[in-house]
Amino acid sequence: MKTRVSAERVRERVAIVRERVAEALERSGRGPDEARILIASKYYEPEQIAMLVEAGIDLLGENRSEDLIRKQETFGDAFEWHFIGHLQRRKARDVVGRVDLIHSVDSARLIEELARRAPQDGVDVLIQVNVSGEESKYGVLEDEIEGLLRAAADPVGKVRVRGFMTIAPLVEDPEDVRYVFSKLRTIRDRLKADWAPHFDLSELSMGMSGDYVVAVEEGATLVRIGRTIIEEDGP
Ligand SMILES: *Cc1c(COP(=O)(O)O)cnc(C)c1O
Repeated sequence: MKTRVSAERVRERVAIVRERVAEALERSGRGPDEARILIASKYYEPEQIAMLVEAGIDLLGENRSEDLIRKQETFGDAFEWHFIGHLQRRKARDVVGRVDLIHSVDSARLIEELARRAPQDGVDVLIQVNVSGEESKYGVLEDEIEGLLRAAADPVGKVRVRGFMTIAPLVEDPEDVRYVFSKLRTIRDRLKADWAPHFDLSELSMGMSGDYVVAVEEGATLVRIGRTIIEEDGP
């Protein structure tokens, strides 16, 4: 992808996203720091990533371990890094130790592999949930979540579940996926009580370019923003 927008446009669009997140937090009675903006960097060329640094972005999410390794060679110190793509078990060891949070854990076998590969101080993860049961080929169904929490609880301490992630179906009107976000928050609230001493489950990674405002209104603590910053016909 060629650089299509200038550094100035990137700054403007980051500012727009920040402002919309801030307004959504205020509308829903939450504090100004209760949602962080992660930029999904999979569409970004190195020069566009440099523009993100200029725009004050401090958190990137990558989808592929090869890209993560390559981008960290250049921009390793400029950002906090998360992993947001589907993670194959054989790639687990390339990712643990390189990122502060893996958003996309969706099987007990992956959890076992992460526990095996985790550094001494463990690894922080989110469980990816397929809330509507149709929107994504990845993620676990609601009734599979507790099995994964049990898998992470043993062996104790290596894999810390910090909360949940979901990808909503692509729709024209983000109101059509509000139920996805509110349902994930409800699921989290129910599990939080049961798992409280073990896992804090405070993070909800939900909302992308098309639906992040609605997601923040429904409790997102991390929004994953990609295209809207660099697309030619952005805001
Ligand atoms: C690409 C990607 C995003 C960002 O999507 P946009 O619609 O471009 O904002 C968010 N989450 C995941 C897991 C992604 O792969």
